[in-house]
Amino acid sequence: MVRERKIIPAEPDDDDDGKEKGYNEGDAGAGSSLPPSSHVPGSGIMAPGENDIVLRPKRIADMVGQQEVMDVIQIAMDAAKKRNEPLGHILFDGPPGLGKTTFATCIPREMGVKVDMTSGPVLKAPKEMIPYLTNLEHGSVLFIDEIHRLPKPVEEFLYTAMEDYRIDIILGEGVNARTLNLQLQPFTLIGATTRAGMLSAPLRDRFLIRQHLGYYSVDELIEILSRNAKKLNVTLNSDAAVEIAKRARGTPRIANNRFLWVRDFAMSKADGKVNLDIAKRALDMMGIDEIGLDRQDRRYLETLIRVFNGGPAGVEAIAHTMSVSADTLEDEVEPFLLRSEYVIRTQRGRCATAKAYEMLKLFNPNKDA
Ligand code: ADP
Repeated sequence: MVRERKIIPAEPDDDDDGKEKGYNEGDAGAGSSLPPSSHVPGSGIMAPGENDIVLRPKRIADMVGQQEVMDVIQIAMDAAKKRNEPLGHILFDGPPGLGKTTFATCIPREMGVKVDMTSGPVLKAPKEMIPYLTNLEHGSVLFIDEIHRLPKPVEEFLYTAMEDYRIDIILGEGVNARTLNLQLQPFTLIGATTRAGMLSAPLRDRFLIRQHLGYYSVDELIEILSRNAKKLNVTLNSDAAVEIAKRARGTPRIANNRFLWVRDFAMSKADGKVNLDIAKRALDMMGIDEIGLDRQDRRYLETLIRVFNGGPAGVEAIAHTMSVSADTLEDEVEPFLLRSEYVIRTQRGRCATAKAYEMLKLFNPNKDA
């Protein structure tokens, strides 16, 4: 089956003026950085959401933070340009919303090459990979989001493509079957994953550059919000920017989504200008607390403490009780709770820490007895 694909030109128009949308809770998106609305089911078409078009940095210089990653990428790009060779394959890992897709779209622009985008779960069989690979131009980039969700046969099909720029296609069946070797243009594969640990060693080892994206500091998020307020032509007071940044769980996508909500709140309830009072009222209304935890985060902790007596409990069991998918918990909820030391992961399961009991003002039998 030949798929339609989204090809982003090397130098897109800078005058995209898509209108922004969306600030749903659970807003980091389940593993994928591409918003659900942008994924035409089963078609493999990935189009950036309108928010992304407006707010997503277009050049690496426009990106904030992740300095160490930027330095590595910059050196690799400089060297590849000087040698006139494609960039080595790159793997980005880290929780959703931290900039994996942004890097994957900025890099081809810096290199002046095309990028074609797809995602692990939509590639069901090796033959679905063929059009992506055969349409590659010299040096162009293929971006596979959620690469840990590639089915094993597709993953194995990629091995020779990545290593030798070659694929073997089997034509016909039984005694009539024959193998066709197809030479590909040298290209760069950029993979993004929220679960580096789920990648098989042979796939992981074929990436020359592997970079982990960590959470952003409050200052970095303030900078992102200030730049985005200008892009959207919204007055954002500095203390309001601090408030939104502090409640954004170290994640640019969450900061952006919460800012969009606060902006709408300001337009509906006031004169459209975002000051501290407006920001606090808007975020409180959404159930986002002072450290950025939302209702789902608190429900996770409450379930772990009330239903499972603080743990240890398996993520599947917690997910069943909460009626959400274990993937959502592992990708969106747990990373920040682990980093903030509200939860620990042990071999026997997840456990709530004393800090979680304190935050929720719940009786801690281990401490308060
Ligand atoms: P991921 O692919 O890791 O899920 P994205 O790259 O889609 O995350 O980032 C989500 C949004 O956050 C982007 O649309 C962009 O607006 C913003 N963003 C991410 N990283 C940065 C950054 N370093 N600087 C500025 N904005 C960023």
